[in-house]
Amino acid sequence: MLDLNGFSFGTRAVRAGTEPEPVTGAIMTPVFQTSTYVQPKPAEAKVHEYSRSGNPTRDALEFAVAELEGSKHGLAFASGMAAIDTVLRLLSSGDHVVASDDLYGGTYRLFTAVLERFGISFSFVDAREVEQVAQAMRPETKLVWVETPTNPLLKIVDLAKLAEVAHAGNAWLAVDNTFATPYLQQPLQLGADFVVHSTTKYMGGHSDVVGGAIVVREQALRDRLWYLQNAIGAVPGPWDCFLTLRGLKTLHVRMQRHCENAAKVAAYLSEHAAVDRVYYPGLPSHPGHEVAASQMSAGGGMVSIELKGGVDAGYKLCMNTQLFQLAESLGGVESLIEQPATMTHASVSPEARRAAGLADGLVRLSVGIEDGDDLIRDLEQALAAK
Ligand SMILES: *Cc1c(COP(=O)(O)O)cnc(C)c1O
Repeated sequence: MLDLNGFSFGTRAVRAGTEPEPVTGAIMTPVFQTSTYVQPKPAEAKVHEYSRSGNPTRDALEFAVAELEGSKHGLAFASGMAAIDTVLRLLSSGDHVVASDDLYGGTYRLFTAVLERFGISFSFVDAREVEQVAQAMRPETKLVWVETPTNPLLKIVDLAKLAEVAHAGNAWLAVDNTFATPYLQQPLQLGADFVVHSTTKYMGGHSDVVGGAIVVREQALRDRLWYLQNAIGAVPGPWDCFLTLRGLKTLHVRMQRHCENAAKVAAYLSEHAAVDRVYYPGLPSHPGHEVAASQMSAGGGMVSIELKGGVDAGYKLCMNTQLFQLAESLGGVESLIEQPATMTHASVSPEARRAAGLADGLVRLSVGIEDGDDLIRDLEQALAAK
């Protein structure tokens, strides 16, 4: 296998995980659409025994995701939520988690509506304030869980400092790196113990597959997670692994354009008379800009805005864009627009939304890789629409 050490990110994205297939030389890892594998002898496998436990197409994807996060130990899942749930299954009843108060809606729902019933407790704090995380730590705290940039307010938390706080309390730091991707930020290098992804978003990148991944630094932790992956069974099928792997090969090219377009859109909206606030970590006016600049290589592809006209103006904007299509999800090549309070974050209570600073009129843009000027013209006409 080609040793990718020393190659830059783009080269590793193209090559990671895919070796010519040994029988035919196929350059792309085939879709090994099989549930089981013929064994040479009882209790002896060629490589795999059963596709819940392992599959060559999944192996390639797991290797590639790990490589891009700067590790050797990756695991792929049927969805981002399945990956997140599997990390949490390392915990037991009585354990405590400190989590950021501005999480992906589905993560918040899993924590509060499902896992609390199993005796795991959660404290939600503003993780931008490292002190708040430190104060929320308890002797039974096993995990600190954050996203950065957060969804949808694009708050930035300081990963190196949070890793110190978590480790000082004998807890792990887990980072949901879905918004940044390893192209922009590599949490394991900043001290995190787990990186999780919804590969549905930028990693897959083409809005055609749902998936998730976990990457860890240590083999021992990987083995515990592999045990859970196999025991729980929320694994992706080989076809989904193939699509995600294909997406990963262009991650660097796509991310570069996502970031360029989002920076243009954010700059344009900041100057627009109808716009009250723009949330984009690449803007120097963003409160987290400095920390973002220290741990991310660019501002990412997501932009959130509040319009002066509040909820009604946000609704109107969502109804009038043509290139920005009204849909949940993010990170695909095509631009999307949505209203978090009624869509992605509808499962978060109005009180919790308010506490996190999420206005009902907030509009979230997933800026795609179309022509940037076309995207700006689309927003221009939609903001001018009666
Ligand atoms: C989408 C998303 C998830 C959940 O992933 P699924 O693939 O939809 O299960 C988790 N975290 C973040 C930040 C996301 O955007």
